[in-house]
Amino acid sequence: MKRFIYDFTFEDWKQWMLDHGEQSWRASQMMDWLYVKRVHAIDEMTNLSKGLRQLLEQEFAFTTLNILAKQQSGDGTVKFLFGLHDGHAIETVIMRHNYGNSVCVTTQVGCRIGCTFCASTLGGLKRNLTTGEIVAQVLMAQQFLDETEERVKSVVIMGSGEPFENYDATMQFIRVLLDERGLNIGQRHITVSTSGVVPNVYKFADEKWQVGLAISLHAPNDALRSSLMPINRRHTLAELLDACWYYLRTTGRRLTFEYALIGGQNDKLEHAHELGKLLKGMNCLVNLIPVNYVPERNYVRTPRNHIFEFKKVLESYRVNTTIRREQGHDIDAACGQLRAKHNQSKESK
Ligand code: SF4
Repeated sequence: MKRFIYDFTFEDWKQWMLDHGEQSWRASQMMDWLYVKRVHAIDEMTNLSKGLRQLLEQEFAFTTLNILAKQQSGDGTVKFLFGLHDGHAIETVIMRHNYGNSVCVTTQVGCRIGCTFCASTLGGLKRNLTTGEIVAQVLMAQQFLDETEERVKSVVIMGSGEPFENYDATMQFIRVLLDERGLNIGQRHITVSTSGVVPNVYKFADEKWQVGLAISLHAPNDALRSSLMPINRRHTLAELLDACWYYLRTTGRRLTFEYALIGGQNDKLEHAHELGKLLKGMNCLVNLIPVNYVPERNYVRTPRNHIFEFKKVLESYRVNTTIRREQGHDIDAACGQLRAKHNQSKESK
C-alpha cells in the first residue's frame, strides 16, 4: 500500500529527496505545495520535474477523507464524520472561541481504554490512524474555514482514541503542526490529552515542548477511578501523579486535569475535598466538564448549582478551576456519538 503524502515531516522529505537523488531543498517545495498552496494532486506540483512527480506517484497517495456527515450547531461548532479509505469512520470537530477556531482531532478508530462515560470505546479499538490521516483532519477543517476566510488557530488532540497509545504518529503529527513550512501552529496553541498512559507522560515531558498536556482524571481515588477508567488498574493514581510532577518539573508548564462530573458517581463534595488535597500545590488547572448524555450509558448530569459548589471546594485548596463552556449541545457533541450512530445505522441495513 502507498504511504499517505501527509505522513512526512520536513526532515523526512529532505531525507527522501536525498535517497532519491534529488536536492534536499526540494523538501521546502513539497511543504509549500502541501501546506501553503494545499494542492490535491501530485500533478499540480508544477515546479517538480516529471520524473520526480512520477516517483512521488509511485510511493504516495493523498489522504482522502470523505465527508459522511456534517453537523452544525447554533453556537458555530461544526462536527464532521469522515470516511476513511478502508470504510472506517472518524470524527473531527471545529470549535469557535473568542480567541479563534480550534480543531479537535481523532488519533485512533475507536479506542481500547474503555472509559465508562465514553461512546468512542463502545466497539473497541479498530486501528491507529497514520500521521497523514490526523494531519488531513486539520486540512479539511481549514478548507471549511477558508469559505469564511478564517483559519485554524489551535489544535486539541482530544477526539476519539488515546493519543499516547498511538504515540509515534501523534508526535509526528505535532511536528507537522509546529513546522513553519507545515501547518504553522504555535506550541502553546496545541494540547494533547491522555487518560494516563504513564510511561508516555514521561516520554512526552522529555520532548521538552511547550505543547499543553491535559490528563483525564475524573476521580480522586483509585477505587473510583478504576471503576470509571480501567486504565487506572494498569497505572495507579499515585504513579500517574508522579509522572505529572515530572512533567511540571521538566517543562515548567501548567498541567490541565479534566474532570467529567457524573451525577451521583464522582461529583460529591467529599470527592471535591479529596481532589483538592491531591492537587494542592500543583501548578495545574482543573477543568470541570458536565458529562454529556450518552444513550448507551445511564449517567445523569450534575445539576448546575452543584457544579459551582464543587468548584468552590476545589478553590478552597487554591486549586485553579474552570467549568467547561458547553459547545455543540444541540448536535452529537460528545466524542464518538456521531460515529456510534453511523455504525448502528450501517449494522441495521
Ligand atoms: S475518553 Fe478517551 S481514552 Fe477514554 S475511552 Fe474515550 S477515547 Fe478512549
